[in-house]
Amino acid sequence: MTEPLRRPKRKNPLRRTRLPLLPPSGRSRVGLGLTAAAALGRFELQVCRVCNNVQYPPREACHRCLSLLLDWKLQSGEGELISETTLAHSNDEFFRERLPWRLGMIRLDCGPTVVAHLHGDVAPAPTRVIVSARLDRAGQAALIAMPAQELSNMADDKQLREMTCDPKFRKALVTDAKTATGQALVRALVAAGADIVWAGYAEPWKKAPGMDELKELAPVTLLPLDVTSSDSVRETAAEIGAKVDILINNAELHRTYGISARHGVETARAEMDINYFGLLRLAQEFGPVMRARGADGQSSATAWVNVLSIYALSNFPAHGTFSASKAAAYSLSQCLRAEMQLAGVRVVNVFPGPIDDEWNQTLPPPKLNPSTLARAIVKALQDGIEDVYPGDVAQEWLARWRENPKVLERELAHL
Ligand SMILES: [Zn+2]
Repeated sequence: MTEPLRRPKRKNPLRRTRLPLLPPSGRSRVGLGLTAAAALGRFELQVCRVCNNVQYPPREACHRCLSLLLDWKLQSGEGELISETTLAHSNDEFFRERLPWRLGMIRLDCGPTVVAHLHGDVAPAPTRVIVSARLDRAGQAALIAMPAQELSNMADDKQLREMTCDPKFRKALVTDAKTATGQALVRALVAAGADIVWAGYAEPWKKAPGMDELKELAPVTLLPLDVTSSDSVRETAAEIGAKVDILINNAELHRTYGISARHGVETARAEMDINYFGLLRLAQEFGPVMRARGADGQSSATAWVNVLSIYALSNFPAHGTFSASKAAAYSLSQCLRAEMQLAGVRVVNVFPGPIDDEWNQTLPPPKLNPSTLARAIVKALQDGIEDVYPGDVAQEWLARWRENPKVLERELAHL
Protein backbone atom coordinates (compact mmCIF):
# COMPACT_ATOMS: atom_id res chain seq x y z
CA MET A 1 0.00 0.00 0.00
CA THR A 2 1.22 3.52 -0.74
CA GLU A 3 2.83 5.35 2.18
CA PRO A 4 0.71 8.43 2.81
CA LEU A 5 2.46 11.62 1.84
CA ARG A 6 3.96 13.63 4.70
CA ARG A 7 4.09 17.37 5.00
CA PRO A 8 7.43 18.37 3.45
CA LYS A 9 10.09 19.80 5.75
CA ARG A 10 10.82 23.49 5.58
CA LYS A 11 13.15 24.32 2.75
CA ASN A 12 16.71 25.36 3.48
CA PRO A 13 16.83 28.83 1.90
CA LEU A 14 20.57 28.53 1.31
CA ARG A 15 20.29 25.43 -0.81
CA ARG A 16 20.13 25.91 -4.54
CA THR A 17 16.86 24.83 -6.20
CA ARG A 18 17.47 22.07 -8.74
CA LEU A 19 16.87 22.87 -12.38
CA PRO A 20 13.77 21.24 -13.82
CA LEU A 21 14.43 18.34 -16.18
CA LEU A 22 11.89 16.80 -18.51
CA PRO A 23 11.28 13.22 -19.60
CA PRO A 24 11.91 12.52 -23.31
CA SER A 25 9.27 14.49 -25.22
CA GLY A 26 9.73 13.66 -28.91
CA ARG A 27 6.49 12.40 -30.47
CA SER A 28 5.44 11.87 -34.08
CA ARG A 29 2.50 13.89 -35.40
CA VAL A 30 0.24 10.84 -35.23
CA GLY A 31 1.58 10.01 -31.75
CA LEU A 32 0.27 13.37 -30.52
CA GLY A 33 -3.24 11.93 -30.85
CA LEU A 34 -2.54 10.01 -27.63
CA THR A 35 -1.45 13.28 -25.96
CA ALA A 36 -4.54 15.16 -27.18
CA ALA A 37 -6.80 12.55 -25.57
CA ALA A 38 -4.72 12.40 -22.36
CA ALA A 39 -5.05 16.19 -22.04
CA LEU A 40 -8.78 15.57 -21.57
CA GLY A 41 -8.20 12.62 -19.23
CA ARG A 42 -9.04 9.99 -21.86
CA PHE A 43 -7.13 6.86 -22.92
CA GLU A 44 -7.71 6.55 -26.65
CA LEU A 45 -6.11 4.23 -29.18
CA GLN A 46 -6.51 4.05 -32.95
CA VAL A 47 -9.06 1.50 -34.19
CA CYS A 48 -9.07 0.37 -37.82
CA ARG A 49 -12.35 1.22 -39.54
CA VAL A 50 -11.92 -1.75 -41.93
CA CYS A 51 -10.77 -4.69 -39.76
CA ASN A 52 -11.51 -3.28 -36.26
CA ASN A 53 -7.98 -3.97 -35.04
CA VAL A 54 -6.74 -1.80 -32.15
CA GLN A 55 -3.31 -0.22 -32.80
CA TYR A 56 -0.38 0.52 -30.52
CA PRO A 57 1.96 2.37 -30.81
CA PRO A 58 0.12 5.02 -32.85
CA ARG A 59 0.75 4.61 -36.58
CA GLU A 60 -0.20 5.84 -40.05
CA ALA A 61 -1.61 2.54 -41.38
CA CYS A 62 -3.30 -0.49 -39.82
CA HIS A 63 -0.69 -3.08 -38.87
CA ARG A 64 -2.97 -5.88 -40.01
CA CYS A 65 -4.66 -4.69 -43.22
CA LEU A 66 -2.67 -1.49 -44.09
CA SER A 67 -5.86 0.60 -44.20
CA LEU A 68 -5.30 4.33 -43.57
CA LEU A 69 -8.71 4.68 -41.90
CA LEU A 70 -7.74 4.73 -38.22
CA ASP A 71 -10.05 6.44 -35.69
CA TRP A 72 -9.08 7.42 -32.15
CA LYS A 73 -11.49 5.66 -29.79
CA LEU A 74 -11.87 5.57 -26.01
CA GLN A 75 -10.44 2.42 -24.36
CA SER A 76 -11.14 0.94 -20.94
CA GLY A 77 -7.44 0.21 -20.41
CA GLU A 78 -8.17 -3.12 -18.71
CA GLY A 79 -5.49 -5.75 -19.13
CA GLU A 80 -3.05 -8.13 -17.52
CA LEU A 81 0.44 -7.34 -16.33
CA ILE A 82 2.59 -10.10 -17.81
CA SER A 83 6.07 -9.01 -16.75
CA GLU A 84 7.78 -6.20 -14.89
CA THR A 85 11.15 -4.70 -14.10
CA THR A 86 12.52 -2.04 -11.77
CA LEU A 87 15.07 0.27 -13.29
CA ALA A 88 18.12 0.83 -11.12
CA HIS A 89 19.98 2.72 -13.82
CA SER A 90 18.99 5.09 -16.60
CA ASN A 91 20.88 7.11 -19.19
CA ASP A 92 18.09 9.65 -19.16
CA GLU A 93 18.75 12.51 -16.74
CA PHE A 94 15.10 12.95 -15.73
CA PHE A 95 14.70 9.29 -14.73
CA ARG A 96 18.21 9.09 -13.26
CA GLU A 97 17.09 11.57 -10.57
CA ARG A 98 14.01 9.45 -9.81
CA LEU A 99 15.35 5.89 -9.60
CA PRO A 100 14.30 3.22 -8.77
CA TRP A 101 11.51 3.25 -11.37
CA ARG A 102 9.01 0.47 -12.04
CA LEU A 103 7.94 -0.51 -15.55
CA GLY A 104 5.75 -3.34 -16.80
CA MET A 105 4.46 -5.03 -19.91
CA ILE A 106 0.67 -5.25 -20.11
CA ARG A 107 -1.47 -7.28 -22.50
CA LEU A 108 -4.54 -5.09 -23.00
CA ASP A 109 -7.91 -6.85 -23.31
CA CYS A 110 -8.51 -4.87 -26.52
CA GLY A 111 -5.47 -6.49 -28.20
CA PRO A 112 -2.11 -4.74 -28.12
CA THR A 113 0.68 -5.25 -25.59
CA VAL A 114 2.11 -2.03 -24.13
CA VAL A 115 5.01 -1.00 -21.90
CA ALA A 116 3.83 1.30 -19.10
CA HIS A 117 4.95 2.94 -15.86
CA LEU A 118 3.72 0.92 -12.87
CA HIS A 119 1.95 2.40 -9.86
CA GLY A 120 3.58 1.21 -6.63
CA ASP A 121 0.43 -0.66 -5.54
CA VAL A 122 0.35 -2.92 -8.61
CA ALA A 123 0.91 -6.51 -7.39
CA PRO A 124 3.65 -8.65 -8.96
CA ALA A 125 2.84 -10.17 -12.39
CA PRO A 126 0.58 -11.79 -13.41
CA THR A 127 -2.16 -9.47 -12.16
CA ARG A 128 -5.08 -7.43 -13.50
CA VAL A 129 -4.41 -3.71 -14.04
CA ILE A 130 -6.02 -0.65 -15.61
CA VAL A 131 -3.85 1.34 -18.00
CA SER A 132 -4.49 5.04 -18.51
CA ALA A 133 -2.76 7.74 -20.54
CA ARG A 134 -1.54 10.68 -18.45
CA LEU A 135 0.44 13.76 -19.30
CA ASP A 136 3.99 13.57 -18.01
CA ARG A 137 6.11 16.54 -16.89
CA ALA A 138 6.94 17.28 -20.54
CA GLY A 139 3.21 17.54 -21.29
CA GLN A 140 3.24 14.37 -23.43
CA ALA A 141 1.08 11.29 -22.98
CA ALA A 142 2.67 8.40 -21.08
CA LEU A 143 0.98 5.16 -20.08
CA ILE A 144 0.66 4.18 -16.43
CA ALA A 145 -0.85 0.97 -15.07
CA MET A 146 -2.87 1.20 -11.85
CA PRO A 147 -4.25 -1.59 -9.65
CA ALA A 148 -7.68 -2.80 -10.79
CA GLN A 149 -9.12 -1.95 -7.34
CA GLU A 150 -9.00 1.45 -5.66
CA LEU A 151 -6.70 1.43 -2.58
CA SER A 152 -6.03 4.11 -0.01
CA ASN A 153 -3.48 6.89 -0.65
CA MET A 154 -3.11 5.86 -4.28
CA ALA A 155 -2.68 9.49 -5.35
CA ASP A 156 0.45 9.73 -3.17
CA ASP A 157 2.42 7.24 -5.27
CA LYS A 158 5.79 8.68 -6.33
CA GLN A 159 5.50 7.70 -9.99
CA LEU A 160 1.89 8.84 -10.30
CA ARG A 161 2.66 12.21 -8.70
CA GLU A 162 5.11 12.92 -11.52
CA MET A 163 2.03 13.06 -13.76
CA THR A 164 -0.44 14.93 -11.55
CA CYS A 165 -0.67 18.33 -9.84
CA ASP A 166 -2.27 17.28 -6.57
CA PRO A 167 -2.89 20.29 -4.25
CA LYS A 168 -2.14 18.16 -1.16
CA PHE A 169 0.54 19.93 0.96
CA ARG A 170 0.97 22.50 -1.79
CA LYS A 171 0.59 26.29 -1.63
CA ALA A 172 -2.01 27.84 -3.89
CA LEU A 173 -3.08 31.34 -4.91
CA VAL A 174 -6.64 32.10 -6.00
CA THR A 175 -6.60 35.52 -7.64
CA ASP A 176 -10.15 36.68 -6.85
CA ALA A 177 -11.81 35.33 -3.73
CA LYS A 178 -14.64 37.86 -3.69
CA THR A 179 -16.79 35.93 -6.15
CA ALA A 180 -18.80 32.78 -5.46
CA THR A 181 -16.47 30.83 -7.77
CA GLY A 182 -13.38 32.20 -6.02
CA GLN A 183 -14.67 31.26 -2.58
CA ALA A 184 -15.66 27.81 -3.81
CA LEU A 185 -12.15 27.36 -5.22
CA VAL A 186 -10.54 28.35 -1.91
CA ARG A 187 -12.76 25.89 -0.04
CA ALA A 188 -12.11 23.07 -2.55
CA LEU A 189 -8.34 23.57 -2.24
CA VAL A 190 -8.56 23.50 1.55
CA ALA A 191 -10.64 20.29 1.34
CA ALA A 192 -7.98 18.77 -0.96
CA GLY A 193 -5.30 19.29 1.72
CA ALA A 194 -3.57 22.42 0.45
CA ASP A 195 -0.96 23.75 2.87
CA ILE A 196 -1.64 27.46 2.32
CA VAL A 197 -4.32 29.11 0.18
CA TRP A 198 -3.82 32.79 -0.54
CA ALA A 199 -7.16 34.35 -1.36
CA GLY A 200 -6.69 37.49 -3.45
CA TYR A 201 -9.11 40.40 -3.29
CA ALA A 202 -9.23 43.74 -5.08
CA GLU A 203 -11.05 46.93 -4.04
CA PRO A 204 -10.82 46.39 -0.26
CA TRP A 205 -13.29 49.24 0.34
CA LYS A 206 -16.06 47.13 -1.22
CA LYS A 207 -17.11 44.55 1.30
CA ALA A 208 -17.94 41.15 -0.20
CA PRO A 209 -20.08 38.53 1.55
CA GLY A 210 -18.31 35.35 2.63
CA MET A 211 -14.81 36.81 3.08
CA ASP A 212 -14.96 36.79 6.90
CA GLU A 213 -15.95 33.10 6.91
CA LEU A 214 -13.11 32.33 4.48
CA LYS A 215 -10.62 33.99 6.81
CA GLU A 216 -11.61 31.57 9.59
CA LEU A 217 -10.27 28.56 7.63
CA ALA A 218 -6.81 27.70 8.98
CA PRO A 219 -4.83 27.46 5.69
CA VAL A 220 -6.39 30.64 4.23
CA THR A 221 -4.63 34.00 4.11
CA LEU A 222 -6.43 36.97 2.57
CA LEU A 223 -4.17 38.94 0.26
CA PRO A 224 -4.76 42.28 -1.50
CA LEU A 225 -4.30 41.68 -5.24
CA ASP A 226 -5.64 43.77 -8.11
CA VAL A 227 -4.87 42.18 -11.48
CA THR A 228 -5.63 45.49 -13.25
CA SER A 229 -2.64 47.09 -11.52
CA SER A 230 0.87 46.13 -12.61
CA ASP A 231 2.22 47.46 -9.30
CA SER A 232 -0.16 45.34 -7.24
CA VAL A 233 0.69 42.17 -9.20
CA ARG A 234 4.42 42.91 -8.98
CA GLU A 235 4.29 43.55 -5.23
CA THR A 236 2.28 40.37 -4.60
CA ALA A 237 4.66 38.31 -6.73
CA ALA A 238 7.62 39.74 -4.81
CA GLU A 239 5.94 38.82 -1.53
CA ILE A 240 4.69 35.28 -2.22
CA GLY A 241 5.72 34.41 -5.80
CA ALA A 242 8.58 32.15 -4.77
CA LYS A 243 6.22 30.03 -2.67
CA VAL A 244 3.25 29.57 -5.04
CA ASP A 245 2.97 25.98 -6.31
CA ILE A 246 -0.47 26.35 -7.91
CA LEU A 247 -1.87 29.59 -9.27
CA ILE A 248 -5.57 29.71 -10.14
CA ASN A 249 -6.52 32.80 -12.10
CA ASN A 250 -10.27 33.17 -11.82
CA ALA A 251 -10.41 36.99 -11.84
CA GLU A 252 -12.88 38.05 -14.50
CA LEU A 253 -15.20 40.84 -15.52
CA HIS A 254 -18.36 39.73 -17.24
CA ARG A 255 -20.92 42.06 -18.79
CA THR A 256 -23.69 41.11 -21.14
CA TYR A 257 -24.50 42.48 -24.64
CA GLY A 258 -22.63 42.45 -27.89
CA ILE A 259 -21.51 45.43 -29.96
CA SER A 260 -24.57 47.46 -30.94
CA ALA A 261 -26.38 47.55 -27.58
CA ARG A 262 -23.68 49.69 -25.97
CA HIS A 263 -21.89 52.95 -26.77
CA GLY A 264 -18.16 53.42 -26.37
CA VAL A 265 -15.46 50.92 -25.57
CA GLU A 266 -15.14 51.43 -21.79
CA THR A 267 -16.92 48.23 -20.76
CA ALA A 268 -15.09 46.14 -23.34
CA ARG A 269 -11.79 47.70 -22.26
CA ALA A 270 -12.52 46.92 -18.62
CA GLU A 271 -13.26 43.29 -19.57
CA MET A 272 -9.98 43.10 -21.50
CA ASP A 273 -8.11 44.73 -18.61
CA ILE A 274 -9.07 41.94 -16.22
CA ASN A 275 -9.68 38.95 -18.48
CA TYR A 276 -6.73 39.41 -20.85
CA PHE A 277 -4.23 41.95 -19.45
CA GLY A 278 -4.81 40.62 -15.93
CA LEU A 279 -3.58 37.22 -17.09
CA LEU A 280 -0.66 38.82 -18.92
CA ARG A 281 0.39 40.80 -15.82
CA LEU A 282 0.21 37.68 -13.66
CA ALA A 283 2.10 35.61 -16.24
CA GLN A 284 4.91 38.18 -16.46
CA GLU A 285 5.38 38.40 -12.70
CA PHE A 286 4.59 34.87 -11.46
CA GLY A 287 5.61 32.90 -14.59
CA PRO A 288 9.40 33.21 -14.21
CA VAL A 289 9.47 32.38 -10.46
CA MET A 290 7.18 29.38 -10.93
CA ARG A 291 9.30 28.14 -13.82
CA ALA A 292 12.36 28.30 -11.61
CA ARG A 293 10.65 26.03 -9.08
CA GLY A 294 9.46 23.31 -11.45
CA ALA A 295 11.66 20.73 -9.72
CA ASP A 296 11.61 22.00 -6.14
CA GLY A 297 11.22 18.64 -4.38
CA GLN A 298 7.97 16.98 -3.34
CA SER A 299 5.99 20.23 -3.39
CA SER A 300 7.34 21.91 -6.49
CA ALA A 301 5.56 24.56 -8.52
CA THR A 302 3.22 22.38 -10.55
CA ALA A 303 0.24 24.08 -12.17
CA TRP A 304 -1.25 27.29 -13.46
CA VAL A 305 -5.01 27.27 -13.95
CA ASN A 306 -6.91 29.75 -16.13
CA VAL A 307 -10.65 29.93 -15.70
CA LEU A 308 -11.69 30.85 -19.24
CA SER A 309 -15.14 30.30 -20.76
CA ILE A 310 -16.67 28.01 -23.35
CA TYR A 311 -17.40 31.27 -25.22
CA ALA A 312 -13.63 31.44 -25.89
CA LEU A 313 -14.10 28.76 -28.57
CA SER A 314 -16.85 30.54 -30.48
CA ASN A 315 -18.31 33.97 -29.84
CA PHE A 316 -21.69 34.03 -28.11
CA PRO A 317 -23.13 37.30 -29.53
CA ALA A 318 -25.41 37.93 -26.53
CA HIS A 319 -22.18 38.16 -24.47
CA GLY A 320 -20.08 39.36 -27.40
CA THR A 321 -17.30 41.51 -25.89
CA PHE A 322 -16.91 39.13 -22.96
CA SER A 323 -16.48 36.25 -25.43
CA ALA A 324 -13.82 38.25 -27.30
CA SER A 325 -11.85 38.92 -24.11
CA LYS A 326 -11.94 35.22 -23.20
CA ALA A 327 -10.82 34.23 -26.71
CA ALA A 328 -7.85 36.59 -26.28
CA ALA A 329 -7.09 35.08 -22.87
CA TYR A 330 -7.30 31.57 -24.33
CA SER A 331 -4.81 32.44 -27.04
CA LEU A 332 -2.44 33.96 -24.47
CA SER A 333 -2.74 30.94 -22.21
CA GLN A 334 -1.59 28.70 -25.09
CA CYS A 335 1.55 30.84 -25.23
CA LEU A 336 1.92 30.59 -21.46
CA ARG A 337 1.51 26.81 -21.68
CA ALA A 338 4.32 26.51 -24.22
CA GLU A 339 6.61 28.57 -21.96
CA MET A 340 5.71 26.87 -18.67
CA GLN A 341 6.01 23.40 -20.22
CA LEU A 342 9.76 23.88 -20.52
CA ALA A 343 9.91 23.75 -16.72
CA GLY A 344 7.35 20.98 -16.30
CA VAL A 345 4.69 23.35 -14.93
CA ARG A 346 1.27 22.50 -16.35
CA VAL A 347 -1.13 25.14 -17.64
CA VAL A 348 -4.70 23.97 -17.14
CA ASN A 349 -7.37 25.71 -19.19
CA VAL A 350 -10.92 25.54 -17.88
CA PHE A 351 -13.83 26.23 -20.22
CA PRO A 352 -16.98 26.41 -18.10
CA GLY A 353 -20.41 26.95 -19.59
CA PRO A 354 -22.58 29.70 -18.05
CA ILE A 355 -21.99 29.88 -14.29
CA ASP A 356 -24.98 30.41 -12.02
CA ASP A 357 -24.24 34.08 -11.23
CA GLU A 358 -25.90 37.47 -11.77
CA TRP A 359 -24.42 37.99 -15.26
CA ASN A 360 -26.04 34.84 -16.57
CA GLN A 361 -29.32 35.58 -14.81
CA THR A 362 -31.37 35.71 -18.02
CA LEU A 363 -29.93 32.51 -19.47
CA PRO A 364 -32.05 29.39 -19.10
CA PRO A 365 -30.69 26.42 -17.12
CA PRO A 366 -28.62 24.26 -16.96
CA LYS A 367 -26.09 26.57 -15.34
CA LEU A 368 -22.92 25.58 -13.56
CA ASN A 369 -22.90 25.83 -9.79
CA PRO A 370 -19.68 27.53 -8.52
CA SER A 371 -18.86 24.67 -6.13
CA THR A 372 -19.32 22.09 -8.90
CA LEU A 373 -16.92 24.14 -11.03
CA ALA A 374 -14.39 24.39 -8.18
CA ARG A 375 -14.51 20.64 -7.54
CA ALA A 376 -14.00 19.95 -11.26
CA ILE A 377 -10.90 22.18 -11.23
CA VAL A 378 -9.38 20.48 -8.17
CA LYS A 379 -10.14 17.06 -9.67
CA ALA A 380 -8.40 18.09 -12.90
CA LEU A 381 -5.32 18.97 -10.82
CA GLN A 382 -5.47 15.65 -8.98
CA ASP A 383 -5.89 13.70 -12.23
CA GLY A 384 -3.33 15.76 -14.15
CA ILE A 385 -5.78 16.90 -16.83
CA GLU A 386 -4.93 19.90 -18.98
CA ASP A 387 -8.19 20.94 -20.68
CA VAL A 388 -11.39 20.92 -18.65
CA TYR A 389 -14.92 21.49 -19.96
CA PRO A 390 -17.07 21.30 -16.82
CA GLY A 391 -20.82 20.89 -17.04
CA ASP A 392 -23.33 19.77 -19.65
CA VAL A 393 -23.41 23.04 -21.61
CA ALA A 394 -19.62 23.14 -22.04
CA GLN A 395 -19.55 19.46 -23.06
CA GLU A 396 -22.27 20.01 -25.64
CA TRP A 397 -20.65 23.15 -27.10
CA LEU A 398 -17.31 21.33 -27.30
CA ALA A 399 -18.88 18.40 -29.15
CA ARG A 400 -20.62 20.76 -31.59
CA TRP A 401 -17.49 22.87 -32.06
CA ARG A 402 -15.40 19.78 -32.79
CA GLU A 403 -17.96 18.51 -35.25
CA ASN A 404 -18.20 21.75 -37.20
CA PRO A 405 -17.18 25.20 -35.87
CA LYS A 406 -19.03 26.97 -38.68
CA VAL A 407 -22.33 25.29 -37.86
CA LEU A 408 -21.93 26.25 -34.20
CA GLU A 409 -21.23 29.89 -35.18
CA ARG A 410 -24.51 29.99 -37.13
CA GLU A 411 -26.47 28.36 -34.32
CA LEU A 412 -25.13 30.82 -31.73
CA ALA A 413 -26.05 33.78 -33.94
CA HIS A 414 -29.73 32.97 -33.41
CA LEU A 415 -29.74 32.20 -29.71
ZN1 LIG B 1 -7.17 -2.90 -40.41
